[in-house]
Amino acid sequence: MVDLVADYWETMRERQPLPDVKPGYIWDLVPKDPPAEPEPWSRIFADIEPVIFQGTTHWQHPHFFAYYPSACSYPAIMGDILSGGIASIGFTWKSSPAMTELEMVMTDWIAKAIGLPRFFLNSDSGPGAGMIQCTASDATLIALLSARARAVMAMKQNGIDRTAQEEVNPNSQIINFESHDPVYFSKLVAYCSDQAHSAVDKGIMLAGVRMRKLKSTKDDRFNNYSVEPNVLEAAIKEDRAQGYIPFIYVATVGTTNTCGIDSLTKLGPICNREKLWLHVDAAYAGSFALCPEFRYLIEGVEMADSFNFNCAKSMMINFDYSPMWFKDAKEAINYFNVDPTYLKHEHQAVASDYRHLQVALGRRFRALKVWFVLRSIGTTKIQENLRIVVNRAIQFAKLIEKDEHFELFVPQHLGLGSNDINERLNTIINDDKRIHLVPANAHGIYFLRVAFHSSTTEDDVKYAYDVITELAEALLKSEL
Ligand SMILES: *Cc1c(COP(=O)(O)O)cnc(C)c1O
Repeated sequence: MVDLVADYWETMRERQPLPDVKPGYIWDLVPKDPPAEPEPWSRIFADIEPVIFQGTTHWQHPHFFAYYPSACSYPAIMGDILSGGIASIGFTWKSSPAMTELEMVMTDWIAKAIGLPRFFLNSDSGPGAGMIQCTASDATLIALLSARARAVMAMKQNGIDRTAQEEVNPNSQIINFESHDPVYFSKLVAYCSDQAHSAVDKGIMLAGVRMRKLKSTKDDRFNNYSVEPNVLEAAIKEDRAQGYIPFIYVATVGTTNTCGIDSLTKLGPICNREKLWLHVDAAYAGSFALCPEFRYLIEGVEMADSFNFNCAKSMMINFDYSPMWFKDAKEAINYFNVDPTYLKHEHQAVASDYRHLQVALGRRFRALKVWFVLRSIGTTKIQENLRIVVNRAIQFAKLIEKDEHFELFVPQHLGLGSNDINERLNTIINDDKRIHLVPANAHGIYFLRVAFHSSTTEDDVKYAYDVITELAEALLKSEL
């Protein structure tokens, strides 16, 4: 299997980024019923190419420019092999001490590498802590539910009480969790930018509260979409006047459409003053804070209640790996503490049980990936890789700027370049299959979006540009 994966990477260029299969292709290749008797491994192995690789979208392909990068490296894969091989489940300290403790140290390593304030470190004596979530969606949901619990407790303390008819009969069998009493949810409103990831919408749905998307505008600093402080302030004022209770702002550092940045230095003070939980979704852009020249991305992060990014996007660590930090993890743990007898252990008072800070109970040994990657590659080389990504995007942006047929929709930022072009061109490019990219839409304008990763060479950037211009010129001619 190791050889197969190594060969897969080495012969990647012989493939095309998008497979040729149609939905349902697999039913002709895989029996509908499970085998009762074992098959020889050689036959199973031989099926990997036709069944799996032929139907795989190759994210590591140098001509894959869709979505966002899913950076990977051999040490990261070794971490997954060892995690799968150990096959322990580390929900409490006792259920796998090495898993919990390595995760604590690795989360500190990453926090230090990207320059987070000390109070987020596990080694700091305060209530801050870091852990690894599966995805940014999980992190956002946990932030929303923690913020919701804080808001419920504040309403109770401020004497905003449930009305008499909503009171649960004290003799009833129904359990009403103190900080998750649904009667208090009806006035709560979660805020985010109109450029926030759909994961934020989904988290808010799951939290059972209302949502308001604040209008983003092009800012002075990046000429890119972000929420201005006066827009947040006005929304808080207007919604409070109508009896709503804004309780969280989910800021996006590196929006999926255009890599826009909600300024934490501008929005943080408002959230802190108005007692809104500030969660920072830096899923894509967070890795870049590893480079000192991109630290500006997380300026003001000391005002955040929680911060998250995906190492599994640009830090040479494969999916999944999404570290999250809490300013006050003790508070969050309080809201989610469930303590059945089978999970209790004698070290509870002094050791961390990460199960309290995530949706699932079970968790695997993700920290091995960072341990292997940072030790065998080092932060310097990862920084170099991030700079390569940015340089590819700059190179592409220059080609687009010079071309009379295209226009940069927003200035290039980090590894995202984009251009205003029509839906048909997108279809033609993706039907052609030599390269793969996805479109986006901001404020009603449909544009093509190109995401770079570090295995893309300068020649590949030129290739992408040549394919796009060739197809665009043919399209323009046919339209005349
Ligand atoms: C990729 C991305 C997400 C979703 O990430 P998952 O880890 O797959 O949940 C959310 N927000 C932003 C800004 C992203 O770039």
